[in-house]
Amino acid sequence: MTLARRQFAAWCAATLGAAGPLRAQAAAPFAAADLQHAALLRTRGLADTLAWQLVESLVTEVGARPAGSEADARAVEWALAQFKRLGLANVRAEAVPLNAWQRGPLQARLTAPMPRPLVAVALGNSVSTPPEGIEAELAWYPNLAALQADSSDKPRGRIVFIDQITERTRDGSGYGKAVPARLNGAIEAGKRGALAVAIRSIGTELDRFAHTGAMRYDEAVPKLPAIAVSVPDANLITRLQQRGRPPRLQIVLQARRVDATSHNVIAEVPGTDLAQEIVLLGAHLDSWDVGQGAVDDGAGVGIVSAAAKLLLDAGRRPRRTVRVVLFANEENGFDGANAYGARYKDVVHQFVSESDFGAGAPWRFRSRVRDEALPVIAAIAEQLAPLNIAAGDNKGNPGPDAGVLMRKHGWPGIELTQDGTDYFDVHHTENDTLEKLDPKGLPPNVAAWAVTAWLAAQSEQRFGPIPAQP
Ligand code: ZN
Ligand code: ZN
Repeated sequence: MTLARRQFAAWCAATLGAAGPLRAQAAAPFAAADLQHAALLRTRGLADTLAWQLVESLVTEVGARPAGSEADARAVEWALAQFKRLGLANVRAEAVPLNAWQRGPLQARLTAPMPRPLVAVALGNSVSTPPEGIEAELAWYPNLAALQADSSDKPRGRIVFIDQITERTRDGSGYGKAVPARLNGAIEAGKRGALAVAIRSIGTELDRFAHTGAMRYDEAVPKLPAIAVSVPDANLITRLQQRGRPPRLQIVLQARRVDATSHNVIAEVPGTDLAQEIVLLGAHLDSWDVGQGAVDDGAGVGIVSAAAKLLLDAGRRPRRTVRVVLFANEENGFDGANAYGARYKDVVHQFVSESDFGAGAPWRFRSRVRDEALPVIAAIAEQLAPLNIAAGDNKGNPGPDAGVLMRKHGWPGIELTQDGTDYFDVHHTENDTLEKLDPKGLPPNVAAWAVTAWLAAQSEQRFGPIPAQP
């Protein structure tokens, strides 16, 4: 029992005399003093300016930071220096070996029915074309499902084009539905004898920016070069296609892979009696090489770092240790998440989470915990309600790296769903710059994570384990 709880119990005994109210107090998920502290964190979090300072500093002083690059190494140094400056404990960088994909030059253009340059970008992990490039007629598909359903010879010897449209949604589900075209398009096209694959950018805006992002290969299938074209270019291709003569596309793409080392950067607010158990607030430090990585995921780096600083400065140490983890290479392989999981697999994690959705205001609180913890989750949700955050279900998605850890290790997950209506306008493009972040969106996120981390750290109830999903 904490000192505050003992004091509260003594007060109850003295004031109320009977055992009844004491039993009621024991059944409540949180002591009154813990709830008061949550209210303090909420108020202070809403006045936060640190998250913005951090993301502004990161994108100005480091910029784009693809995993394994020289800029990524500077980002690691930046994060270590910031955590030390903020006075967080146990600040460290843990090595993450990886095989980094590096973009080279790309040229993509229509050669028929007339020459037209395209705004395009190579997808992460793509192999190179031959030096002279690939030029072929397009085999057009409205979406990935149509390609998967096609058992004809149409793709053979052609460049497959997938016109997968990304629907604009508040919760990001439109991206979830569309992104398999980027991830698996080259595999499906490769199975059918195609020469390369091009997709409509997985993005929601009409501006002429191409959206990169990871794709993957199946070792049993020929590896095709893979690009995304901007939405206006995809619309042009589709209009030409509808005129009855398939356009021809030329792609000249260079990329390479190098062995490199990145780092997860970690800092803590040390716990007290349950210090060996971890409440994990995550974000990813790497970004794509295009743009500044402000929205993805400079914002998350600022939010979780500021939440930890808020907890540190608020005058009470949490029972469990609150650990900020800035993961390496979320974008193209989850090497940081995998390295973290291998290193800490035997450590109890109260929950894992990740802020990776820009500066959109949080509007929903979801969990993935064992049933016994649901009353505690409901009590946390009550403390988030003043931030206009609604209680959600127990099927939460804690974020990309945290999701990997949750599924592999059976660690509980917490999700604070942010408003992502505009997130996929600039996601993975040259246009992901500081100006796209609304500074007003950051403080509610800082407040919500600080409150959630604090209460989860104080709870008598362990949130996990939950079933792993190998
Ligand atoms: Zn991200
Ligand atoms: Zn990303």
